[in-house]
Amino acid sequence: DRMNIAIDGPAGAGKSTVARKVAGQLGYVYIDTGAMYRAVTYTAQRAGVSPEQTARLAELTRSLQIDLRPGDHGQSVYVNGEDVTASIRSREVTLQVSYYAAIESVREVLGTLQRQLAARKGVVMDGRDIGSHVLPDAELKVFLTASVEERAARRYREISDSQSITLRQLESEIAERDRLDEQRAISPLVCASDAVVLDSTGMTIDEVVAAIVKLSRT
Ligand code: C5P
Repeated sequence: DRMNIAIDGPAGAGKSTVARKVAGQLGYVYIDTGAMYRAVTYTAQRAGVSPEQTARLAELTRSLQIDLRPGDHGQSVYVNGEDVTASIRSREVTLQVSYYAAIESVREVLGTLQRQLAARKGVVMDGRDIGSHVLPDAELKVFLTASVEERAARRYREISDSQSITLRQLESEIAERDRLDEQRAISPLVCASDAVVLDSTGMTIDEVVAAIVKLSRT
């Protein structure tokens, strides 16, 4: 029987890579909810709407058609038909996304969309509040974590122009994003009480994937 798998955890724990590979092995659909928050952030920034402008932000968020389409190198993200896949990964978006993600209307709209996408089962969804809030009935919940040093080091290796930022700086930005995500009032980043905690420090991606696939079969 098809099930839903929730993979939550702090920034840079490898959730998206792991979730995409788990979905591939199980023949499931991968859904990156962080990309949705990033898409709202990017669109709002471009429209000059700040997180404090809650009414304008709510209206803008409700007007967006957000599509996740599977591609060769992970999923592509479209907003009202426009490909924003690369734009939503900018530093500007990364530094601001947690402020937009703390706004109730944004979480409500995206949470509803996420539940719709999971309604027929067979999804691997990664985020911060999937097991605790969006899909409390998910058959498998994983809380994927790693030391902040390791998460920053992994991210540092990914960034092609790492000259522009130091490892230290990256580490403090990741820690700050975690703090904001953990401390927001609505559906904060938290480990669900029935989640399996997986600390991936010192594990390879394939080892983490294998562990989750195994959990899904028990
Ligand atoms: O996963 P990613 O790092 O791309 O997520 C970007 C941001 O989106 C997170 O730091 C968090 O503020 C927000 N987010 C969220 N709830 C989710 C997924 C992401 O608040 N389920």
